[in-house]
Amino acid sequence: MSKTKYVFVTGGVTSSLGKGIISASLANLLQARGYRVTIQKLDPYLNIDPGTLNPYEHGECYVTDDGAETDLDLGHYERFLNHPTSQANNVTTGRIYQSVIDKERKGEFLGKTVQVIPHITNEIKDRVRILGNTGDWDIVITEIGGTVGDIESLPYVEAVRQLLWDEGKDNAMVIHLTLLPYLATTGELKTKPTQHSVKTLMTSGVQPDVLVCRSEYKIPQSVKDKLALFCNVRKEAVIESLDASTIYDVPNLMLSEKLDEVVLDHFNLDKSIAPDLSEWNIFVNNFKNPKHEVEIGLIGKYVELHDSYKSITESFIHAGATNETKVNIRWIHSGSLEEGNVEKKLGGLDGILVAPGFGERGIEGKIIAVEYARVNKVPFFGICLGMQMAVIEYGRNVLGYEDAQTTEIEEATSCPVINLMDEQKNITNMGGTMRLGAWKCELVDGTIASEVYKDKLISERHRHRYEFNNDYKKEYEDAGMKASGFNPDTGLVEIVEITEHPWFVGVQFHPEYKSTVLNPHPLFINFVKASLKHSLT
Ligand code: GLN
Repeated sequence: MSKTKYVFVTGGVTSSLGKGIISASLANLLQARGYRVTIQKLDPYLNIDPGTLNPYEHGECYVTDDGAETDLDLGHYERFLNHPTSQANNVTTGRIYQSVIDKERKGEFLGKTVQVIPHITNEIKDRVRILGNTGDWDIVITEIGGTVGDIESLPYVEAVRQLLWDEGKDNAMVIHLTLLPYLATTGELKTKPTQHSVKTLMTSGVQPDVLVCRSEYKIPQSVKDKLALFCNVRKEAVIESLDASTIYDVPNLMLSEKLDEVVLDHFNLDKSIAPDLSEWNIFVNNFKNPKHEVEIGLIGKYVELHDSYKSITESFIHAGATNETKVNIRWIHSGSLEEGNVEKKLGGLDGILVAPGFGERGIEGKIIAVEYARVNKVPFFGICLGMQMAVIEYGRNVLGYEDAQTTEIEEATSCPVINLMDEQKNITNMGGTMRLGAWKCELVDGTIASEVYKDKLISERHRHRYEFNNDYKKEYEDAGMKASGFNPDTGLVEIVEITEHPWFVGVQFHPEYKSTVLNPHPLFINFVKASLKHSLT
């Protein structure tokens, strides 16, 4: 195929309509027909990346192999498409402005007034084309964050207008996602908000080619026809998107609504090969028809907002399907755990996961949860901060290091079993300076890790500043907590395990970022398996 095609996905009426899932589902269908597709997210906020945002603001911060801290939608893209994304797949207004201002300082626009149009819009266009120009993709889907009509979205919509003009109608198109609210009193789905949001797009010179309409109820043909007429799109291009019981149903829903065909027709691309969703559907079928059930406690401090742990909960869905097991999550706020209520809060769990996190709040509750899992031999999985808490708990309660601590909480502690990595010591900027992205990890034979991965050398993604302090390694290993994975170049401990425990694994990295539908993560698969075994004893 000669030229990369561009699909822009905008949103109207309200936010949170699921542009990311629609984009990922469309990409999935096109990929299942043999096209090479990637998805990009443009975020209209001024942070350079979401790495400095509290998860309550924007949900989980996702991390790519190349160490980009990104929007959680990139996690959906990877989970649906089963191929890695990169920094180029997520761009914020902050990054756009930073690069334009850097160029201005270098003198690249010498003599010119630097303006939103054309300089900011050109930078946005360049960022979209970076993916197209690699030659790696037949189709690039670019999701524009936010809602049309927002002040901060305007430069993006203008950049889309220009790209449509530059690339030509045959090579670029717009899908607009909207909501049809249902009025119970009259029993009607209302089209007016959609009409208005399309008008808003049109005042910026952008005519959508496809409308994807979120709705709680089936959209009658008459309503679709009305939308087509008033919004100036083809009748077949009004696509119904019913609320789904799981996001993993959306590709099939979009297939039956022929969203992929509408897109291929627009580009005049071959649609003779039907999408092959066989593997995907095996997963969906396993997920929906579990034979067993387990309850896993997720101990974290952002549990009020489940999106803060999106990749973890999705990893459980993938791993649950592999084990034909429904994984129920008991959300437990780490700050609510105290010596007196542990049994009440954690009793009956088949597995305990202590989540990643930053800062002091809820730390002691996490340590209590680790102790409960260790002593009661409940399968335990500690991720990043969760692993660090496992090390502290073992230090305090098994090795007798009463003051075992991480220097993240107490810089001058007398027993720094977790401390700042050397390369972190002189860093003062907070943004983008953690140990980020993919790092190699060598596994030690005869451990759970090596058995689970069935490999010697693995690669996992990181996002942290602190690490296991190797000065204590010998004491820990002698006392039964083994380092089962380490960085072959630096010797940093990446995985710890307790030998005398059915399944106790702490990992310094984030396995959840690499679990996909077609490639569920082996650690999650085995943790669920161990939890299932525990539930049967
Ligand atoms: N706060 C810890 C660190 O920076 C753990 C980070 C995390 O859980 N992602 O090392």
